[in-house]
Amino acid sequence: MAKKIEDAINAQINAELWSAYLYLSMGTCFRAKGLDGIANWFEVQFKEEQDHAMILYKYMQSRGWRVILKPIAKVETEWKSAVEAFEDTLAHEKKVTAMIHNINKLAVEEKDYATVNRMVWFIDEQVEEEEEAGKNLEAVKMIGDNSIGMFMFDKELGAREYHKASALK
Ligand code: MG
Repeated sequence: MAKKIEDAINAQINAELWSAYLYLSMGTCFRAKGLDGIANWFEVQFKEEQDHAMILYKYMQSRGWRVILKPIAKVETEWKSAVEAFEDTLAHEKKVTAMIHNINKLAVEEKDYATVNRMVWFIDEQVEEEEEAGKNLEAVKMIGDNSIGMFMFDKELGAREYHKASALK
């Protein structure tokens, strides 16, 4: 019965690594546009997504489950604007949230309380992910074509630093 949960977590590892790839692609796209701060924000996001995959990778191993790495699907390479990139980010994070909630639901049904507990960290993390993507989207929508506004916002996102995920020992 645990096989369903095992499969779902393997799929989640793939989704987290795909997310990392997506955000790295956004990073390089915004480097090319000269928006290095926005690029930095996505590059930090790239590292965080790898942490998410590793938390699940380690969790699977501590349960004695086999991690199966599947191919990572291709990602877009071009976003016309920061609005487009943050729209895609928010939409993607909502999908990830639904996947996490599904694992949690399966784990509750299977009375796998260790997985339920592991998912708590991810459920909280997804609230933050959606909040941050949403805030950035609102900001770039408000800025529009205002170049001084974009200059300042880019500078602000340039200050984002990577911190190893608390759940990753
Ligand atoms: Mg993630």
